[in-house]
Amino acid sequence: MKRFHCIPILLLVVLPWIIASAQDQPAAAPAQVQTSSPAAPTAAPSTQKRVTAYTLPPDLYAKAHDRSRIHFRLALIGFVYGLLVLWFVLRTKLAARYRDWAEAFSAKRFLQSVVFSPLLLLTIAVLTLPLDLYSEWIEKRFGISVQGWGSWTWDWTKGQLISIVLGILFIWLLYVVIHRSPRRWWFYFWLVTLPIGVFLFFIGPWVIDPMFHKFEPLQQKDPALTASLEQMVQRAGENIPPERMFWMGAGEKTTGLNAYVTGIGASKRIVVWDTTIAKMNIPQIVFVAGHEMGHYVLLHVPKGLAFFAALLLLFFYLGYRMIGWVLGRWGVDWGVRKLDDWASLPALLLLLSVFSFVASPIMSAFSRHDEHQADQYGLEVTHGLTSDSAQVAAQAFQILGEVDLADPDPNPVQVFLFYDHPSIPERIQFALTYDPWAKGQQGEFVK
Ligand SMILES: [Zn+2]
Repeated sequence: MKRFHCIPILLLVVLPWIIASAQDQPAAAPAQVQTSSPAAPTAAPSTQKRVTAYTLPPDLYAKAHDRSRIHFRLALIGFVYGLLVLWFVLRTKLAARYRDWAEAFSAKRFLQSVVFSPLLLLTIAVLTLPLDLYSEWIEKRFGISVQGWGSWTWDWTKGQLISIVLGILFIWLLYVVIHRSPRRWWFYFWLVTLPIGVFLFFIGPWVIDPMFHKFEPLQQKDPALTASLEQMVQRAGENIPPERMFWMGAGEKTTGLNAYVTGIGASKRIVVWDTTIAKMNIPQIVFVAGHEMGHYVLLHVPKGLAFFAALLLLFFYLGYRMIGWVLGRWGVDWGVRKLDDWASLPALLLLLSVFSFVASPIMSAFSRHDEHQADQYGLEVTHGLTSDSAQVAAQAFQILGEVDLADPDPNPVQVFLFYDHPSIPERIQFALTYDPWAKGQQGEFVK
């Protein structure tokens, strides 16, 4: 979900776990979709066709390929553009001016953050807006987004409000910690933000997600599907009560298909988009839900949080090691007095965004690994539950690919850098060839 890439990096380091990374597409990389045929009531494109590999008709092939190339370019341009925006904010001494206003407003650090943080975050957001608008325009052009501009603008505004509220808190904490401990701030800030980040992730499904989409208990929306899902849950010997399965109304904003697992502890849940339910038959949805259950059972959410926290600690440490040099070199030009001056924030964000870009192959590989495991889990848990379960899985991927315009022939560099899921051709191949039962063995995860 790229909707929130307007939110600056500091918040990006916490927010993805609330919003973006939890949005687990069972499909290929970014949420994608198709232009024509609105959801047929029962079954979509290739529901019943036998799938032997991922194939698209020529027109869709060209479209999927174009879109994928645009996405790749946008991701690279977005990174450079983001750096330029931060550099611009420093170079024009805008950050230093906001600091002056904040310091003139109050001597209290928290109140200074109340002035400084919204100004800086909104400036960055507005400067990044052209790119956000272009991305959304592309989504509309390919028929993936069906959201009106009014609704999109309202979502953008809500995103900014969340970003500002969290920004005031996190930026205040950061500068309190830097002020108190100039040598260890990177560690203490990490330590302080960790429980807050986890707490935000915990309340996300209750507080943040409903600000953008409608959620209803799956059982009420689709009792037949819920019954089939419960059968699968039983087969897995797991305990996921129906109260933890949710229907999400995505269709008013996108034609894309998705399902995901999010939350921790009491907020842990499986969410299936209405668009997925509309375009797949029950066995196919059960496979998709099986994949999601894999994430749930294999504890991918807490593992992902731990991995991300470790990476964050490394980023903060590297930021600490490098920021002195950066400010020594350009601080005077930017009007930044020293590190514990609010105006140094864009420089820190600049370093963090370079680190996270450099680390994107690692993050993507980590995610692809989990997604592959979840595919395997989905195949194991549906084995024997539906006849020809491997074919059902392959069909589900084929539909996903067609509707989301998954690239049949993705650029390997793009996969390496940004694909958080294995490509659709690979996933179909795996679904059709994974067969431990033929050798008299059991599944690895579901016995
Ligand atoms: Zn997944």
